[in-house]
Amino acid sequence: MAVNGTGPYDPQNVFARILRGELPCRKVYEDEYALAFHDIAPKAPVHVLVIPKGPFVSFADFSSNGTEAEITGFTRAVGKVARDLKLEAPGYRLLSNVGVEAGQEVPHFHVHLFGGKALGAMLP
Ligand code: ADP
Repeated sequence: MAVNGTGPYDPQNVFARILRGELPCRKVYEDEYALAFHDIAPKAPVHVLVIPKGPFVSFADFSSNGTEAEITGFTRAVGKVARDLKLEAPGYRLLSNVGVEAGQEVPHFHVHLFGGKALGAMLP
């Protein structure tokens, strides 16, 4: 599951520990493929992280090495979380940082889901 430039999957990363129940989280949603929880340092009124259950370092890793079922299941979970949080009508933003230059800090693939206010112009 290694990805160019970011090394192999580290099973001690913080999101792996959350998935194993070793660290707490404020859970929003969970199914076979995904876990969603509130970001510990929210940057919007709604700031939820959605992560796949498999050991993927980044979106690059997940999109290359995830199974069809994992990719479909994860994608549907992201959409369901946004819908359940009633963000569809006002709108929301998805973001995933990949690798060092993008500022990815936790090396387990995650999508940031932002909403709850007018988010303004697109980030770089
Ligand atoms: P960045 O911090 O630059 O956004 P990432 O894209 O890797 O880097 O995002 C990691 C996110 O995980 C951050 O928004 C951070 O606040 C969040 N985070 C870190 N530890 C926890 C935790 N234990 N529970 C919930 N969110 C966490």
